[in-house]
Amino acid sequence: MSIDVEDWYTAQNLAAGVPRDSWDTQPRRVEATMGRMLDILAQKGVRSTCFILGLVAERHPALIKRIAAEGHEIASHGTMHDLIYDIGPDRFREDVRRSKKTLEDLTGQRVDGYRAPCFSITDFALDILREEGFTYDTSVFPIKGHRRYGTIAGQRTDCDIYEIRPGLTEVNVSAMPILGKQFPWAGGAYFRLYPYAMFRAGVRRILASGRPYVFYTHPWEIDWEHPRPIGVRMDDVFRHYHNMHRCQARWTRLLGDVQWTTCRELIASGIGRTR
Ligand SMILES: [Zn+2]
Repeated sequence: MSIDVEDWYTAQNLAAGVPRDSWDTQPRRVEATMGRMLDILAQKGVRSTCFILGLVAERHPALIKRIAAEGHEIASHGTMHDLIYDIGPDRFREDVRRSKKTLEDLTGQRVDGYRAPCFSITDFALDILREEGFTYDTSVFPIKGHRRYGTIAGQRTDCDIYEIRPGLTEVNVSAMPILGKQFPWAGGAYFRLYPYAMFRAGVRRILASGRPYVFYTHPWEIDWEHPRPIGVRMDDVFRHYHNMHRCQARWTRLLGDVQWTTCRELIASGIGRTR
């Protein structure tokens, strides 16, 4: 189970309607929504890997301390939610270094894992992650056709967890092979789009085949009352808000329907290294 811990106003889907120079004055909702997620995780006895945005950690230190105290894995989602291919190597290094330090200073936990904003991973980013002390990345969405997802040399679909660079493990986010094509099956908008029973059947099919399953969500996905800025593309509005009012109940159900662990523990288990 993984949660990309960011506030609604940093979501890439809404970027056209929420310019960065307005972020300081936007209503902050992540403390309440992530708090609700933590309550549900505790009720269900599930521990998650939390890929926390550095900006959220800087603005809400008590929230990050609570996440760590409740036994979840602390990992990095960068600091400012820039798409990696937009900012280049130098700014990327600064961005991940800042987030890792902030999270480690706040929690006393070592931060091993990274997930790129919008899966915008690049080859230069992998080298920098290794140099900055990360041991795994989970930013490969092994499907084609999404305009923001990145691709990297050496990414695989024949196994789910593999060494992408010396000393750096890649954990693919889950996709479902159907008739020779890969369909997104890992959460986000797709989790809200497909009927729940169909989604769960897919998850069980992946697990039954001996593969691990990697799910991701965000605190704003259970916050159906967050602002609806104007000026956002219609496909992004759909992707962002579709079925959001059902997401909390669905996610709560999914937590009970499947057995979960953190990314760090999944890697240590050795599951998914071969198929
Ligand atoms: Zn994100």
